[in-house]
Amino acid sequence: LDGMKVLVTDPVDKLLLGILEKHGLQVDYRPGVPREELLKIIGDYDILVVRSRTKVDREVIDRGEKLKVIARAGVGLDNIDVQHAIEKGIKVVNAPGAAAQSVAELTIGLLIAAARFFKAHIVSLERREWSKGRWTGVELSGKTLGVIGFGRIGYRVAKIARGLGMRVLAYDVVDASDRAREIGAEFTRDLDVVLRESDAITLHVPLTKETYHLIDRDALEKMKDGVIIVNTSRGPVIDTKALLEYLESGKVFAAALDVLEHEPPKEEWEWRLVHHPRVIVTPHIGAETREAKRRVAEETAYAILEALGM
Ligand code: NAD
Repeated sequence: LDGMKVLVTDPVDKLLLGILEKHGLQVDYRPGVPREELLKIIGDYDILVVRSRTKVDREVIDRGEKLKVIARAGVGLDNIDVQHAIEKGIKVVNAPGAAAQSVAELTIGLLIAAARFFKAHIVSLERREWSKGRWTGVELSGKTLGVIGFGRIGYRVAKIARGLGMRVLAYDVVDASDRAREIGAEFTRDLDVVLRESDAITLHVPLTKETYHLIDRDALEKMKDGVIIVNTSRGPVIDTKALLEYLESGKVFAAALDVLEHEPPKEEWEWRLVHHPRVIVTPHIGAETREAKRRVAEETAYAILEALGM
């Protein structure tokens, strides 16, 4: 491996760089490198490490003539043209599971924050207003939580929600009735059942062609009046413009989002959504804990070494 060159184009835990260097790799740490620059230099590197900012599309992959491994320090591979990389004999690795507990904890935190209007009250207090009585929340115990995507994160969210006394309805395209039963959740393959019966809905699917705008007008229309929506998966899983309309009409009681269609928001209406008193937004911090970052760094580094035959 001596002399193989690694380019890291997004901020990662230093531990990842350390492990690779210890194994003789030469690491260039260039977080935030602009696309034009990336296209110019990628040809020199054997390994590319990204998080979610860097778009690793056909052009980047084709210019990376020496590339052997593309690593996503995290979970979602939606910013990487995996198919094209594989066709060119490049291995694509990630760190599945490393951040699952952190994302699950944030999800439940956001659910409670949305149900009790933390954001609106905090903003009022910042303005020196005592807002007690202005927004009345809802209790979660005894309510139904719809978990869409019952993988690593969805399962953990469901487990914590059961601890809060919620009924959990889990939906996935893959049968997971056994894992659901383990934690006292109900499993269904029928999305409409989840949309109709849930008091709160939380999204944990990957972003794919099938899940793009999975929550659109049609889905929002089927939901209960007063539903709470939480999204810590990927912004484009929700038609966010439609969500704003349903919040404004009152059909959606509150929403909590760690991910947006554009990060940071671009359009004026997106900022309206962020500033809406019944919406709480966090800036994609699901994996931003000390523990998750360490685990992501370790798992990614060892996945790269394994892909190189170490
Ligand atoms: P996972 O692969 O363990 O689980 C995803 C589940 O979704 C799988 O069970 C899969 O069968 C299911 N699924 C796929 N397509 C579906 C569809 N069309 N309808 C219903 N279910 C479908 O993934 P995970 O680790 O649980 O991650 C879930 C999501 O969380 C991903 O979108 C990932 O990008 C996102 N994520 C966000 C953060 C953050 O910082 N907010 C951090 C890590 C992961």
